[in-house]
Amino acid sequence: MSRFLKALDERNPPHSDRRWIFVPEDQLSDDIGPISRSDPLEIGIILIESHWKAARRPYHKQKLALLWSNLRHFAMEQASRGVSVRYLTTTRPFQATLAPLIAKLGPLTVMEPAERELRADLDPLVRTGGVIVLPHEGWLTTREQFILGAGEGSPWRMDAFYRFVRKDTGILMDGDVPVGGRLSYDVLNRRRWAGDPPAPKPLSFPIDEITAEVGELIDRHFSHHPGEMNLSTIPATDKDAQRLWRWAKRECLPHFGPYEDAMSAGSRGLFHTRLSSVINLHRLLPRQTVTETAALNIPLASKEGFIRQILGWREFVRHVHRETDGFRQLPAGRPPVAPTPGDAGYASWRATPWPPSKTKDELDGGGARPSYLTAHAPLPSAYWGAKSGLACLDRVVADVWAEGYSHHITRLMVLSNLATLLDVSPRELTDWFWVAYTDAFDWVVEPNVLAMGTYAVGDLMTTKPYVSGAAYIAKMSDYCKTCQFNPKTNCPFTSMYWAFLARHASLLNNNVRMRLPLRALERRAPNQRMHDAQVFAAVQGMLQVGKPIDYDGVRIPLG
Ligand SMILES: Cc1cc2nc3c(=O)[nH]c(=O)nc-3n(C[C@H](O)[C@H](O)[C@H](O)COP(=O)(O)OP(=O)(O)OC[C@H]3O[C@@H](n4cnc5c(N)ncnc54)[C@H](O)[C@@H]3O)c2cc1C
Ligand code: SF4
Repeated sequence: MSRFLKALDERNPPHSDRRWIFVPEDQLSDDIGPISRSDPLEIGIILIESHWKAARRPYHKQKLALLWSNLRHFAMEQASRGVSVRYLTTTRPFQATLAPLIAKLGPLTVMEPAERELRADLDPLVRTGGVIVLPHEGWLTTREQFILGAGEGSPWRMDAFYRFVRKDTGILMDGDVPVGGRLSYDVLNRRRWAGDPPAPKPLSFPIDEITAEVGELIDRHFSHHPGEMNLSTIPATDKDAQRLWRWAKRECLPHFGPYEDAMSAGSRGLFHTRLSSVINLHRLLPRQTVTETAALNIPLASKEGFIRQILGWREFVRHVHRETDGFRQLPAGRPPVAPTPGDAGYASWRATPWPPSKTKDELDGGGARPSYLTAHAPLPSAYWGAKSGLACLDRVVADVWAEGYSHHITRLMVLSNLATLLDVSPRELTDWFWVAYTDAFDWVVEPNVLAMGTYAVGDLMTTKPYVSGAAYIAKMSDYCKTCQFNPKTNCPFTSMYWAFLARHASLLNNNVRMRLPLRALERRAPNQRMHDAQVFAAVQGMLQVGKPIDYDGVRIPLG
């Protein structure tokens, strides 16, 4: 028996005479749902540490460590309150794990899972009455608010939704008027970071017996998973999550707004809060972050900027995912769905298939595979750590495999931007983000990558593709300083940007927001356009075979 189970046994109240609630791994709060309203002595909770789910995809070791150390600590915290805990470790899907318990204990209640994948898994139990689904109380907005704010049908726009929700909830409002007179301060939040004010040092957390044992488990049974595991950076307890939140309020939020779009090799997170993982697990409730931020004495641009992320973007993407059934139902029809979970390019990187074990996946279904721009190239192994010779990409990829984290602009304007310029399959890129980031779950990673990052669903959720040449990265980061390329003269990003526009001009022609760049493309001389196409082909070719791009490789003579 594990040290954790022994400790839980010692603390655990008896299982008899309890109402049983299934608590998914991302609902770890006793401030929402039936747990929050019940006498702890009358309820029992079922927690599932799913080694089946972990084996389905090549998840970052740090992600497994974060999930299981939180789940185990939550079990201990609840047992200490008098809640009876059944903690199951399983190598079977959730339905197969829960069915025998339902036969013994009767129907279980659960707050509606945020993950589509888990909803689909539980569906047979829901249909036969074994699982009773209650609304998820962690969200800040309802479907009705989404429809009223963003509209019944797509295209949906975050700005419209956010404007409606601010007014409807009264958050950061003086009656009908936004505090400070404007609803959004986004345009003011575009500063480059040159080292001042200094970026905060990320927190570290004590590694107790429970977290240490999770680390041992991963080293023993999941060592073939990618990424570095660093247990000291994991907020694992209720107290750790609150400590992280106090750090974010003190160290990050005062400067959050102005440097929101900045990137630096000198700081992985800059003034970003690193809260997404604990918020997505509900270790920290979104409503606490919004209410307390609104009351902080910090510059309004930072205050509003942060609230827009949680109340606006986070809620918006979740609604879009729900409305489209995880992008399986689109206005243009139903895109193909991958028959099994994608390996995100793991097999071609490691030259061995995933999963390395012989476990057969018992449930079908990868994710939807829309590709508005008909992009299907495989993800280069540079995303798994093979050196590309592009300083910005290599920096961010190293950050991700070191920690399971990088901030928003690096995700959008380096990783997604390059993959889009290379015509990489949006599904494969999404699967990569899903396995590589500790905060990734289907409801949040799919809209962010398929819709925002790669334009794979056209203008469903964003007005245009987020692509750029070297100028944006050079303006907002210091990555170019150490690069073999010069953003003003020979950076392949710029040629690839023009080549992207040329390849997809016929699809983007009707988009008003693409008119200016497409007009600029028309002014490009034929020999420049040929050069752009050659650079694209050279870079794509080299990255596809895992070769670093060297200066000579892309110094294709003009004309
Ligand atoms: C290509 C791409 C993939 C992404 N994948 C994920 C993902 O798998 N999981 C995830 O939680 N976020 C994802 N995001 C959104 C965003 O990048 C992260 O939430 C953020 O970087 C997390 O770091 P932070 O906590 O330091 O964020 P901060 O900048 O401090 O922002 C505060 C909080 O706002 C919320 N937030 C901000 N933007 C978004 C958004 N677009 N969608 C959802 N929540 C948002 C998060 O809860 C975040 O913690 C993705 C964005 C892009 C462009
Ligand atoms: S020069 Fe180009 S490849 Fe190098 S860091 Fe800058 S944008 Fe990236």
